[in-house]
Amino acid sequence: MKCQRFLSIPIIAVLLLMGFICYITVFIFIDDWVGLQSSAGYLNVLIFTVLASLCLFSFSSCVLIDPGHTPASYIPDVEDSGVSDQEPKKNVIQSRCCDKCSTYKPPRAHHCRVCRRCVLRMDHHCLWVNNCVGYWNYKAFFTLVLYATIGSLYSTTIIITCALQKDWEFSGSGSLKVFYVTCAATMAALTLTLGTLLGWHVYLIIRNMTTIEYYEAIRTEWLARKSGQSYRHPYNQSVYKNITSVLGPNMLKWLWPVAVSHLKDGLVFPTPRDNS
Ligand SMILES: [Zn+2]
Ligand SMILES: [Zn+2]
Repeated sequence: MKCQRFLSIPIIAVLLLMGFICYITVFIFIDDWVGLQSSAGYLNVLIFTVLASLCLFSFSSCVLIDPGHTPASYIPDVEDSGVSDQEPKKNVIQSRCCDKCSTYKPPRAHHCRVCRRCVLRMDHHCLWVNNCVGYWNYKAFFTLVLYATIGSLYSTTIIITCALQKDWEFSGSGSLKVFYVTCAATMAALTLTLGTLLGWHVYLIIRNMTTIEYYEAIRTEWLARKSGQSYRHPYNQSVYKNITSVLGPNMLKWLWPVAVSHLKDGLVFPTPRDNS
């Protein structure tokens, strides 16, 4: 049962944290700031609830969607591999074998030691979603980070606005001040962390790279420079094509975590050479 994936301490911790942030944002800070019965209160609760729901939906999708694994019948097509022309074909075949799974590895697939199998277009194994982030759930992971960043920023803004307009002379006891400052500082730190992660994945999507490929490219680039050659990531097409390869061709569905009808089998990836 895939739902058993939710039975992990990091996932329960994330869900509890989400619930706690939603509770304090709505029932303490929005209520204190404009009142839950006012129209401004209704509007802020509505916006925050939509953000939190999208975040929870992306999170559940990322946990439940299988990232994709290598079919047993897979045999690499060296001619259509998108690898460097200089690389000998024998080496290409050898480097595509997984010793642990005893199968061929498709391009961009990697073996995950935690999942104990080869994962298609593997980005990383994420402890917080108790799943590998790969071909089929990368979009859900990206939307999760996006909605979590926006939701966290929204909550931070409300806490700070609420604190600034509060008349501390009359209503502020010492412990209440400490509670406000602690919440504001914690939420600001969370927003900064999530924002950095979001920026990193936007950068990777724009360059059509996975986290693993980024670190591999650093070494390959260094080796290429040493031998007087230049290196270009083989799957980096135009910025727009790189974005649509992850988020899909329909811009209206870019931010919907499960709109992945554009994905094929995860075994072959277009390269700039295919267009020339
Ligand atoms: Zn493997
Ligand atoms: Zn994994």
